[in-house]
Amino acid sequence: MNAPIPTYDYLVVGAGTAGCVLAGRLSEDSQTTVCIFEAGGRDNHPFIHVPSMVGPAIATPRLNWRFQTVPQEHLNQRCIPQPRGRVLGGSGSINGMVYSRGNPLDYDDWARDGATGWDYASVLPYFVRSENNEDYPASTYHGRGGPINVRRPGRPNRLNFAFIHSLEAMGFPPATDFAGPNPEGVGLRQGLIRRGRRVTTAGTYLHPAISRGNVDLKTDARVLKILVADGRAYGLLYECNGIQAEVHARKEIILSAGALQSPQLLLLSGIGPANELQAAGIQPVYELPNVGRNLHDHLACPVLMSSKNSTSYGISARALPRNIANFFEYLIRRSGPLASNVFESVAFLKTAPGLDRPDVQFVFQPAMRPSPKFPLPVGHGHAISPVVLYPKSRGKVTLAGPDPHAAPLIDPALLSAPEDIEPMIRAIKLARRILASDEFKPYEATEIAPGVNIQNDLEIDHFIRSTAYTVHHQVGTCRMGSDAESVVDTSLKLRGVDGVRIADASVIPSVVGGNTNAVAIMIAEKAADLIRNKPLLPAASLSSAN
Ligand SMILES: Cc1cc2nc3c(=O)[nH]c(=O)nc-3n(C[C@H](O)[C@H](O)[C@H](O)COP(=O)(O)OP(=O)(O)OC[C@H]3O[C@@H](n4cnc5c(N)ncnc54)[C@H](O)[C@@H]3O)c2cc1C
Repeated sequence: MNAPIPTYDYLVVGAGTAGCVLAGRLSEDSQTTVCIFEAGGRDNHPFIHVPSMVGPAIATPRLNWRFQTVPQEHLNQRCIPQPRGRVLGGSGSINGMVYSRGNPLDYDDWARDGATGWDYASVLPYFVRSENNEDYPASTYHGRGGPINVRRPGRPNRLNFAFIHSLEAMGFPPATDFAGPNPEGVGLRQGLIRRGRRVTTAGTYLHPAISRGNVDLKTDARVLKILVADGRAYGLLYECNGIQAEVHARKEIILSAGALQSPQLLLLSGIGPANELQAAGIQPVYELPNVGRNLHDHLACPVLMSSKNSTSYGISARALPRNIANFFEYLIRRSGPLASNVFESVAFLKTAPGLDRPDVQFVFQPAMRPSPKFPLPVGHGHAISPVVLYPKSRGKVTLAGPDPHAAPLIDPALLSAPEDIEPMIRAIKLARRILASDEFKPYEATEIAPGVNIQNDLEIDHFIRSTAYTVHHQVGTCRMGSDAESVVDTSLKLRGVDGVRIADASVIPSVVGGNTNAVAIMIAEKAADLIRNKPLLPAASLSSAN
């Protein structure tokens, strides 16, 4: 006799940043049952938890899907690495831990373009609900007591102050709060760190939920297909230890497999552009032309300095005694440089007149960039990586074929919009001015990239195309909107097939002017209320905000 097929109220695909939030919130009702599937394993690897080990965490094969783009036509045909977390906590378990929400105007743009109910005043309470901010009191903009601990670096490297003071001397404003009403300017930035350890949604939402007893977690369990009959999704086919099994949903299936793999799973299930599905050997189930379209990401290109002075973080003979002391400080007190994610200061700046918000993020790193061969900085130096915040280029995620184990074809079409290179050229010139300022003189640094031979705009253009990479803020492939062309509606329901919602970075209509982890958390927080039919949190009253 066949065993009955396990059935839960909710099935969540992907225990990444967003999926863990969903499992945590949906299981708050003890009568509700949830099963969450994660293709990766448990989050017990030590590199995940020590903030300064972010490079080694990304470099650990079993924690990372290690995707690549297809050759990028406008980047000298280079394939750009696309790391994604493959472990509980998802990309949030290997990311840079930077806390950033983007610009308030970004969400008002979402709403104007059709994502009704996702304007800044409406989403702000969900950022606040998720947050425990160590640096700011509870207010309209900040939470105390939420699951996600954020804080400024405890003992930032001195080089950060050269960066901050040089920009201030050039007339750029100091930023008091990057998650406040106006995130423009320069200053120390906050990270998802608590008592010297990385904060993930796996640790703060999922693990506590599992102890409630109504959440089943399946690790090393890859979902292969959404099962659909008569226009409704009723279950999933998944694979664990080489064995395939079915599981059914009483209420809903929630896709949180991320911006590359939520569309991949829809396509594998026959939901997408019919002609492409047929070409890939998949029988179409429902024609939804924009699944996988609108892929975009942030491009970065660093200005790198090598320094004779050993102030920066890094491995060297001169820094050995200090590094040994830092190691023991971390072991004993969980503080010091090993408790830092290295991204300790930032500037959000307008690089041209007339802009209504900053168009570039200058990520400052008081360290050399690790090489592909060794994931920790060797020697001393510092870098500014300008990140262009509002790219116009749009690409797509498609299938290589019908095999659910194959990597998706990822084509963000970087720099396909010719105007996307202009802010990067302006930003590289500005970064060079900052690094040549008096504040950096004591560090006796010389530029190693772009290098003195690269000066005019054409040379900088070539340099960008031969060295730029992305900062892993892929979004947009299951775009949310009110128009019929969007993939999900503003309640995150999949168009055309009942019983499925999508809640992860794939639904973001256009990338925010910041980083995307906190945005994925906010989306999942709001999705949880939509799914369990709870009244939404009241929109923030911004006119009287404190
Ligand atoms: C290296 C790196 C650095 C970054 N740095 C920062 C930063 O400092 N700050 C910031 O704000 N953002 C950063 N980001 C971006 C941020 O982490 C992501 O935007 C965010 O984690 C996206 O969340 P998500 O839930 O959409 O996807 P993810 O967190 O990627 O979760 C998707 C999960 O689904 C699982 N999965 C996929 N397919 C299947 C399947 N078929 N079956 C079962 N499970 C599946 C995956 O293994 C993964 O665990 C970074 C990202 C990376 C990769």
